Amino acid sequence: MESEQVTPRFDADVAVIGLGAVGSSAAWRLATRGLDVLGFEQFEPGHALGGSTGATRLFRVACLEHPGLTPIARRARDLWRELEASSSQALFHETGGIMIGPPGSRIIEGTLRAADAHGLPIEQLDADEVARRFPAHARHNPGDVGVWDPEAGIVRPEAAIVAAVDAARAAGARIRTGTRVTAIEPGDAGVTVRTADAEFRVRHVAVTSGPWISRLVPDLPLTPHRVVMTWFRARDGRDANLEVLPVFIRSVPGHDTWIWGHGAMPGPDGFDAKVGPEFDGPFTPDDPDAIDREIHPDETDEIRDLVAATFPDLDPAPSGVTTCIMTHTPDGQFVVGPTAHPRVVVGGGCSGHSFKHASALGELVAQSVAGEQPFTDAAFLDPRRFAR
Ligand SMILES: Cc1cc2nc3c(=O)[nH]c(=O)nc-3n(C[C@H](O)[C@H](O)[C@H](O)COP(=O)(O)OP(=O)(O)OC[C@H]3O[C@@H](n4cnc5c(N)ncnc54)[C@H](O)[C@@H]3O)c2cc1C
Repeated sequence: MESEQVTPRFDADVAVIGLGAVGSSAAWRLATRGLDVLGFEQFEPGHALGGSTGATRLFRVACLEHPGLTPIARRARDLWRELEASSSQALFHETGGIMIGPPGSRIIEGTLRAADAHGLPIEQLDADEVARRFPAHARHNPGDVGVWDPEAGIVRPEAAIVAAVDAARAAGARIRTGTRVTAIEPGDAGVTVRTADAEFRVRHVAVTSGPWISRLVPDLPLTPHRVVMTWFRARDGRDANLEVLPVFIRSVPGHDTWIWGHGAMPGPDGFDAKVGPEFDGPFTPDDPDAIDREIHPDETDEIRDLVAATFPDLDPAPSGVTTCIMTHTPDGQFVVGPTAHPRVVVGGGCSGHSFKHASALGELVAQSVAGEQPFTDAAFLDPRRFAR
């Protein structure tokens, strides 16, 4: 008897699991390639329970974390601009950014390394020039220097995620919100994706579930960790808007640590000035389903001290506080690309600096699924580096 060839039937070319920062863009970039995309989000796009809440994220092109991030930031900016056009709203505000620290410190050296590698139009400033051009930063440690990145700014996370999901839908993606994926079962001929009440057969999966990635891809060294985010107002008669206080990462007078943040934006979609501490490991793992959302009385003591030491024009009592989840990798770089299983691609492990890049990380996820050459060398983000 002649053998009968069975053609597997698929419900979609690719399932994107988790439509937060990276997944919303991955779904969009996959759908624009003409692939049949099924997107799953356990909550609603733009929700406050993952890693992408808090109204703003810093954007920098001279990325102190790795010079390979510069082309990713620039590609991301182009894609944020595309989403601004498709959603008719401002998602990216270019403010420029000032990095301040001792010569040779990670802030200064890392920023200069990225600038050198890509011929970026940064400016190097001595302490007096920093104080003259940015009076809000007049307090500094003796010998500190500055680097101005004119391409820095802020991105609006919640609105950007909603815009990317809308763009994915417009390009044909089928989106299921309020639907948690409970398991993925990859095999040679495809992947089974299970939810509480259904199962789907797909050719590939992109797991972009942020703090929850390890639930579906357990062999990656990811550590979700609860953090607190804080906002501050200017003292009476003083100003702390984005012109006065553009994006910054800087040392703290009399302290051996950094802070990061930006000034306030007035208006209905506005926000107060944001200042946060350097998030320095080791990080204890937290269950993303059981994050303590309460703010405890002593939790803002450290940031109050750091703000008081640095910015005389800010009231160091926070005007707003919320919780968020960071997902750390051992080397502080993301995990974007194929896993040990060729049908499973991941995009996450965002280590506190990925939002700015998220639209381009979605593009890299889409390129990995589609078998295309990545638009830039992303080997330093390869999830398989930890198994080697
Ligand atoms: C306090 C703080 C400050 C930061 N500051 C900056 C900054 O200034 N600049 C910067 O670039 N980055 C910054 N980051 C990092 C950046 O915001 C995050 O790394 C990034 O937003 C995480 O994106 P993600 O797509 O990996 O995760 P998320 O955006 O959390 O998305 C994951 C999504 O998957 C969904 N999901 C999970 N499991 C499932 C499942 N099984 N089924 C269906 N859906 C699922 C979740 O509900 C969620 O929507 C900061 C992070 C924090 C916490």
